[in-house]
Parts: sequence; structure tokens; C-alpha cells
Amino acid sequence: MGLYAWGGPGTIRLLRAKYRAPRIDEDSFLRLYEPSSLAAARERLGVTDMWVTYSWGFSDATEEPDRRFLRDRLPGFRDQGVRTHAYVQGLNVVTDEFAGRDIFCRDGDGRLLPYSRGRSLTCPNNPEARRIVLDRVRAASREDVDGVFVDNIVFGIPPLLVRRDFISFFGCSCRFCRAEFQARYGYPLPAAAKAGPQAIADYLDFRRRSVASLLAEASAICRSSGKSFGVNLYDPLRHTPEIFFGYGLEDIAPLLDYLLIENHALSTHGGISNGHLAPLIAAAEAPVFVVSYRFGIGFEPAYGAQELGAIWGDAATLGYSPCLKASEFTTGGVWHALDLAAVRTPVAAPSRGAARAVAARRLRSSSLGERVVARAVEKRYARMATAAFENDAVAYVLAKSGFAPRSLRHDRYFLLGHSGA
Ligand SMILES: [Zn+2]
Repeated sequence: MGLYAWGGPGTIRLLRAKYRAPRIDEDSFLRLYEPSSLAAARERLGVTDMWVTYSWGFSDATEEPDRRFLRDRLPGFRDQGVRTHAYVQGLNVVTDEFAGRDIFCRDGDGRLLPYSRGRSLTCPNNPEARRIVLDRVRAASREDVDGVFVDNIVFGIPPLLVRRDFISFFGCSCRFCRAEFQARYGYPLPAAAKAGPQAIADYLDFRRRSVASLLAEASAICRSSGKSFGVNLYDPLRHTPEIFFGYGLEDIAPLLDYLLIENHALSTHGGISNGHLAPLIAAAEAPVFVVSYRFGIGFEPAYGAQELGAIWGDAATLGYSPCLKASEFTTGGVWHALDLAAVRTPVAAPSRGAARAVAARRLRSSSLGERVVARAVEKRYARMATAAFENDAVAYVLAKSGFAPRSLRHDRYFLLGHSGA
């Protein structure tokens, strides 16, 4: 059983970077890795593995106290027999801390692509950006942890419109991507929308190769240091990872020592729906951890007995290891981590989570109207996404309305001539 546990001073700093004047129960984040918390996690929740962090995309100098904070607490994890996975950032950085450096993903007009408020995406084809990620992995491998986990393996921004013959701007069109694409496929990278089956197939292939090559290096670094290696897969059966994140599961699965899936499967009524993962769990050669949210980061209080019971029941029925998020809850407008001292042992609820297959949706062709609108909107996409992240109210409404989880569910799993899983 896992605990996805963002704690320490770096997590507090990140909340201040990501949101305007957030109210934070700082002590709850600082207590998360204390021996008494670990003992409670192990005894009451049966925690075997914890994902612990100091790496949020700030510069190494800024993150040094966060790293020391975790390092000082690692012996406590050993004492409790809890395995640690050093959680490090993948393809994004805190923009201001890397201002002026040419490491960022860009749209067709050279604009940066936001990842959250204050953070921008970096490109796996950019040698310096790649070095930053691999240096993080190398540094984490030198710590006394059991594994290294890279979050946010997202190659550029997801598309707004997906059709069989037309996908509006997604990914990255930086100079390194353009050069690499031209060299491999023999024609210029279409910098905005990808139109026509050849351009779409080539670009999806290009992104998969780029991500797999980065992860192959990261995995080799970890394994040669005796550490396990994992990444956040999000939900490869709800979304089409080639389109929305850039990876192909069959490319990267051999590089991973476990599969960690993060999704919005927890319903607003406290139930859970992970039955669609059954085929993946059955086929997986590595352990599968699933972190299921209701609304996602920071838009809900800590889960109670009903939710924990649903998660435990679902995990037992489907055969995965439940992984509980332990941080970034909000109660009464205050950000806090899970109070492990107050948590009770869950009673697994009877699961309604029967195995079922998710039917991928066959894509239809685009209409002229859709293409015209998509081309007009994609020019403003980077600016619109940045503005949405800058506005806490917009982010709140999007999360609470369920728009994000819903828009990313079944109907976003597209059939593109390959299974994708
Ligand atoms: Zn690029």
C-alpha cells in the first residue's frame, strides 16, 4: 500500500508559487515524514511505500533545504520498514528561477507553455532541459532511498481538438523539436496543427520516441544505482497517452519497476470506478499502484472512512495496490497534509468495481468549420492556458464542476490505429 506524500518545506513553497496567498497549515506538511506519522501510516494503513519529495522544479540552490529536510528524515523510514521513492519533477521548472535559459517548450509562435501557475514545460529534445531532468534523477539516486519516481512526463501541452485527420496544436514546436523532426522524417515539423494522417502519425511517433529515449536514460541511471524506477502514467486507459502526454505504454513499460496510475476515479458520492484498469492490471508484469482522486489537487478535504473503504475494496477486488494521496487537501480554505495520527484503519467496502473494458472511441474526420475555429484558437492557446492558471477562481470552477475529470474520461480514449495499451 502506498502513500503519495508531498511534504516538507518545498511543498509549502510550491503552494505559494502555484496559488495566490494560500492559507497553509504548514505544520501538517512538516510532520508528514516524522517517525510518529510513519508508524501510524504503517500500522493503521499498512503502508509499505511512500513517495516523498523535495523536488518541485525550483533551482537546485532553492531546493537544497528541502533536500536536507528529507535526507535528515530518511533513517526514520528505514526504522519503520517503509520503502521510499524520491519524487522528482520531470519536464517542467519554476519559470522565474530559469528565466533567460533556452530550455522551454514553445508553441508555433515561440510562446512558453504553462504547466501550472509559475511553472512552464520543458522539452525532452532540448539537451539542457534533458540534462536538468537527468541530473535530478542522478542526484536522487545518490540519496538513501529505495527508488526514484519522475512526475510530469508530459511532452508539451495536450490538444484542444482531436480528429482522425486533424489535431490542433499539441506537444512542442521549439527549435530542437523542429530540427529533430526534420532530420528523422525528412520534412518540416508542422508547427501548429497537424493535418493529414501522415503528419499525425509521424508526430505521435516522434513524441513517443522522444519520451522513451529520455526515460531509457533515467531508468538506466536508477537501475545501475540499485534504485527502482517509476513515473506517473496518469491513466493510460482513460486517456490516449500518445496524444495527451506523449508516451506509449508499450515503449516505456519495460523501463519501469512498477506502474503508478493517477486518476479521478473516486466519485462525488464516495464510490470508486477503476474497473476499466482490470485488463492492464492482469497483463502487468510489475506491481500496479493506483492513486484515485475525486477532484484532484487541493479542491477537497481529506478522505473519510467511506472513501477509504471504497478504495480498499476496489483494490482488493481488482488486484492493485491502493495508493493514497497524503497532501494538498483543503479544509475550510486551508491547505493541509493528511493527519496520519488521526487516520483510522479502513474497512474495505464491498466493491462494485467489476472488471470492464473501456471502448475506445473511433475518431471522426474534422469539418471545415472545426479546422477554422481550431486554427484561430490554437494561436491563443498558450496565452489562454497561462491566464487560466493565473486565475484561482477559474481553476476552482473547472475543478469543482468536474469539467477536467469528465472531459478526460472515456470519450478521450481515442482509437488511432493502435491499441495504446
Ligand atoms: Zn521541443
